[in-house]
Amino acid sequence: MKTVLLTDYAWPDPEVERSVIESAGFSLAIGPAKASPPAAIVALAKQHRPVAIMTCWAEVTAPAIEACPDLKIVQRIGVGLDNIDRVAAAARGALVTNVPDYCVEEVSDHAVGMLLAWARGIVAFDREVKGGKWDAAGAKLRRVSDLTIGITGFGRIGRRTAAKMQPFGSRVLVYDRYPPSGGFPEGVTGVDSDRLLSESDVVILHLPLTPETRNFIDAASLRRMKPGSLLINVSRGGLVDNDALLQALEKGPLGAAALDVVEGEPNPPRALIGHPKVIATPHIAFASTASVLELRRRSAEEVVRVLTGQKPHHPCPPP
Ligand code: NAD
Repeated sequence: MKTVLLTDYAWPDPEVERSVIESAGFSLAIGPAKASPPAAIVALAKQHRPVAIMTCWAEVTAPAIEACPDLKIVQRIGVGLDNIDRVAAAARGALVTNVPDYCVEEVSDHAVGMLLAWARGIVAFDREVKGGKWDAAGAKLRRVSDLTIGITGFGRIGRRTAAKMQPFGSRVLVYDRYPPSGGFPEGVTGVDSDRLLSESDVVILHLPLTPETRNFIDAASLRRMKPGSLLINVSRGGLVDNDALLQALEKGPLGAAALDVVEGEPNPPRALIGHPKVIATPHIAFASTASVLELRRRSAEEVVRVLTGQKPHHPCPPP
């Protein structure tokens, strides 16, 4: 029987995946829930010689792909593709697929939630109140309708965040290297990245991580940001230089950072995520009961489609 390899999974059990894959007549080999290091994924690939690999966070490297002579598809159980060697997959004749739109609402809600938590001091005051301090006098809170929000990456998620901020009355600037062919919609202003960084009270990262965007936020870009501004990263940790961010929080100009993703996760630098000016969540912007079920079901269905000779819904050729 042909085997599908599930390298890892970020939920209590792999039963949704098993049910879809096995009812289509394939067997499912399952790695440990927590993503194993690349060498262990290569060993799993050598052991099972799968026709399909499904990965959540585990790296599917060229050696893992080369260990599977009959590989047809590498399915990312998620959106970002930076943990899959797409060039190696193409060389092997295997498709790479993802589920690009299962958590657009959740990630944009998360960005807006972080923005509101900062503007209204919700996290900071919660920490104080629980620590026994009841002091409203020191509050330096913001009126959200007065803020300029800079959104970098005007794709699926960036567009929803922009739309969600408009009813608040905030000014919305957007930067995208590949702007929409019909121009930006009413209510948002397209600008270059320098202008976005220097005029925004809140900079939200909705870019994919690519060789071009790695360290998009570095010491030079942080220097351009407004004094006291907030950086929100709900995309990928590698978009931000951690050392430069820590420096900008300590010495300015940055007022705060809200991070769902951090380079080095799941063990990011304590000095950064433990910093009092940082709000952090453990890469969960994508998650809701509805989004995770949809993601798992659609990922497994895409694998079955490809293995049964049907057209994939979301092929992702090499960049
Ligand atoms: P998308 O592909 O729809 O949009 C990305 C946008 O970025 C596009 O409009 C593209 O033109 C633009 N872009 C690409 N390279 C650029 C560059 N060098 N400079 C400026 N703009 C550039 O992607 P999306 O669905 O909006 O998701 C964005 C990212 O969010 C994903 O790549 C993923 O890494 C991240 N994400 C995170 C979570 C989470 O749980 N934290 C969940 C889903 C997605």
